[in-house]
This record gives sequence, C-alpha cells and structure tokens, in this order.
Amino acid sequence: MKKIPVGISSCLLGQAVRYDGGLKLDSYIVGTLAEYFDFKPFCPEVAIGIGTPRPTIQLVKIDNEIRSLGVKNPDFDVTAPLRDYANRQKAAHDGLCGYILKKDSPSCGMERVKVYINNQPQKMGTGIYAEAMIRNNPLLPVEEEGRLGDPRLRENFIQRVYVLYRWKRLLAEGLTPSRLTRFHARHKLIIMSHENYIDLGQLLASVTKSNVNDVANSYITQLMSTLKKVASRKSHVNVLQHIQGYLKKELSVDDKAELCELIERYRHGEVPLIVPINLLKHHFRKNPDPYIEDSHYMSPYPQELQLINER
Ligand code: SF4
Repeated sequence: MKKIPVGISSCLLGQAVRYDGGLKLDSYIVGTLAEYFDFKPFCPEVAIGIGTPRPTIQLVKIDNEIRSLGVKNPDFDVTAPLRDYANRQKAAHDGLCGYILKKDSPSCGMERVKVYINNQPQKMGTGIYAEAMIRNNPLLPVEEEGRLGDPRLRENFIQRVYVLYRWKRLLAEGLTPSRLTRFHARHKLIIMSHENYIDLGQLLASVTKSNVNDVANSYITQLMSTLKKVASRKSHVNVLQHIQGYLKKELSVDDKAELCELIERYRHGEVPLIVPINLLKHHFRKNPDPYIEDSHYMSPYPQELQLINER
C-alpha cells in the first residue's frame, strides 16, 4: 500500500526550525507512523521568513481580535503573513489525508494555546496558521502530537486518516452511485461504532448519476464530522453484537458462549477490542460472509499499528 500523505509541523520530524534553533523530534511519529504516512512538513514561521533562531511570538487578544505578536516587541506583528501563508498552501493541503500539529505553538497549536488578555495567559487559543489551515480544510483529520499519546485519540485520528484516504481513492477512480453505495457499506460498521451516529445510508437512498456529486459532498461532510467523536466501548459492544448476529446459525452453543463472554469482558475493560475481533475473524474465516468480509470495521488500518490492541 502506498504511504498516505499527511501534513505535519516540521519540528516534529526533528527539523531544526524552532524559534531557538532546538529540535523537537517525536519518536512515535518518526519511528512508527512514518512507516505508513508520507509526511509533508510545513513550518509557517520559517516560511514567512522570520529566520531561525527568531524572536519569540505569542497570541494576544486586542479589541476582540487575536494577533500573533513579538514577546519583546509587540510591534512585531506576524498575524497576516501566517494567515496568508496558510491560505497560499491550500492547494498543497488539499492533497493531504491528515495533519499533525505541534501543541502549544502560537502558529501551529490546535487548541488551548495561551492567549494573553491584559497580560494574563488563558489557554483558549488556536495558532494563527493552524486556525486558517483548519478553516480551509474542514474534512481534514487534524490532531496534535501531545494528544496522540492518548490511545483513544490516536486510534480515532488514524482511523479518520484511513477513511479520508479511501475516500480520495474513490474520487480518483471516479464517483458513481454504485461505488458510493459500496463505500458506505464498507464503512457502515465503523460509523455505527461512533455514538449518536446518523444513518448516512438514508442520504444515499436517492442517489442518481445526475446528483451523485452533491450527495457525495454531503455524505463525506457528515461522515468526517461523525467520526470526529471518539467511539466508546459501549458502541463497539453494540457493533460486535451486531456482527455476531451474522454467525447465529453457524456457531455452536459453546462457540456462542465463548464469544459472548469475550464481548462482555471487553465491555468491562478486561480485554482489548482486538480480542473479540480476533475471535470473530476466526469464525468468519470458517463461515465467510460477503458483507462482513468487505467491511473495514475489523481491519480499519494496518494491523502493525496495533491500535485496537490498546482499546
Ligand atoms: S511549531 Fe510550527 S512554527 Fe513552530 S517550529 Fe514547529 S513547525 Fe515551525
């Protein structure tokens, strides 16, 4: 499989672009994710030409507007150049399937970046570049490297990256009503594992050759927004039980009891998701079902990432 293009704050790859010339290499990103993702680095502060090392900047709220100003020299205002740079990169960002941002940065931070209001810091901001980049690319899965340390957030981000990647491959093949319907069928169980999911299948009920682009736009917008909510143990249990239903005639009483027990143990946090999934895969190898075989739920990304081992 080709590596997936994912944008990243350059400093997380260990590039010496930080304001103090220091390095900020993230070993999980460089060691594990780089096996699967083709990282496209962006350093907005270097790109706008303020050099390395450079004066430190911070977010300041003035007259209801958040600006990026020099710490020592408040007349050093780089708000517009950072925003313009993000806007100029829109075409490059369009080709990405995800983006990992550097936390706390007044340019790249995704959330809870310090904003100074009357000289008092409040963790309420988004970096100027990050804010424009996210606004320009509403479908793009975006996460911060700090939050990737949380297994649930990491799994959620990587799942969204793979879904958007498969969506872009579908668009590259050419959108047709039947391809769109199959895409939905293959992702339906993933959608069901997110609480309060909307039945996106209803959207596709009226899809025709002439409206396929419009339907696809609303479909992917709603899908990516649904997937942002982290799937809960309870909703995974519902999906596992739903999948178990496809084996109701095939399993012996003992096999059924074993599967139910593992699903219950997963519900109580005694085993990770991979345990009932592996048992289900084992049963489906002996009793194949075309819908389950085609679904991405039990293999949403390469197994080597071992994400469902931790959930
Ligand atoms: S946080 Fe963003 S602006 Fe700062 S060094 Fe890293 S890539 Fe450059």
